[in-house]
Amino acid sequence: AKGAGKGQWRRYQADLHLAVLNRLELRAALDQAVVDGDFTLRYQPIVELETGAPAGFEALIRWTHRSRGLIPPGDFIEVAEESGLIVPIGTWVMHNAMAQAAQWHRDWADGTPPYVSVNVSVRQVRNAGFAEQVHRGLAASGLPPGALVLEITESLLLRDDEQVWKDLAALREIGVRVAIDDFGTGYSSLSYLRHVPADVLKIDRSFIDTMSTSEQQRALVDAIVRLAHTLGLQVVAEGVEHPSDRVLLQAMGCRLGQGYLFSKPLSFPDAVAWLRQRGP
Ligand code: C2E
Ligand code: CA
Ligand code: CA
Ligand code: CA
Repeated sequence: AKGAGKGQWRRYQADLHLAVLNRLELRAALDQAVVDGDFTLRYQPIVELETGAPAGFEALIRWTHRSRGLIPPGDFIEVAEESGLIVPIGTWVMHNAMAQAAQWHRDWADGTPPYVSVNVSVRQVRNAGFAEQVHRGLAASGLPPGALVLEITESLLLRDDEQVWKDLAALREIGVRVAIDDFGTGYSSLSYLRHVPADVLKIDRSFIDTMSTSEQQRALVDAIVRLAHTLGLQVVAEGVEHPSDRVLLQAMGCRLGQGYLFSKPLSFPDAVAWLRQRGP
């Protein structure tokens, strides 16, 4: 038994070593990926729950790794944030998402073309020059500010981040919208929501997941939708996978949804093709 314990310890040490090494390697590889521009964007439709009509697209980054293929953001965003690489990566995302959205805007026949929703990280928004970067992206792409939504995860909602709120408020003044992402997973108090300069609230997938099986979760989602509407916020339900979720959400008065029920994240050409089938 003693021998086995020792073996386990060695294995544990080896794993630990590997984890550290991987993190360093990951960082170095990510560094190179930034230099080489080895990223691509997927676009997931956000639809009107009632009709299925396109309302917008969320831009989701993928790392195109030479040997490993497409790496999802869950595997590298954290390292990107810790290392500060999220700033150049975020800039890349912003410029590319706006340029591609401007393309589907130009193709649009009539009515309002779908907006583009871009994820921005804590570190990126805190970086001086963030607002400037958004202005430059809009000017370079020709995308109208009203067609841009910035998604900020709820955990960023720190009261004392004055510069962040100032920048966001200034961007809202020119028509850019701000969405609170993953709502329900952070700690923002309900009264605090009143003071947040936001336009859209995205209900986290974990609530939608359990909604059809749990009465309590259903009541929670219902309360969130009502609260959001009282505060004048638009609601997007994330992770809509089942027709029954859609029915429940509609009954609650939630207008917009996103999830595998409608579409997975699509490559840009596939997103354009998806639009052609559904657009006006
Ligand atoms: P998120 O912002 O909550 O994005 C939604 C995630 O849920 C996406 O994962 C999407 O593919 C996935 N999803 C969509 N519909 C469904 C569904 O019906 N069921 C399930 N199970 N999943 C669904 P993805 O693309 O892997 O992105 C993960 C996270 O990485 C995002 O979560 C976001 O926080 C972050 N992220 C993605 N792109 C960027 C980016 O450009 N910048 C930053 N800072 N973060 C990003
Ligand atoms: Ca998001
Ligand atoms: Ca989310
Ligand atoms: Ca998330």
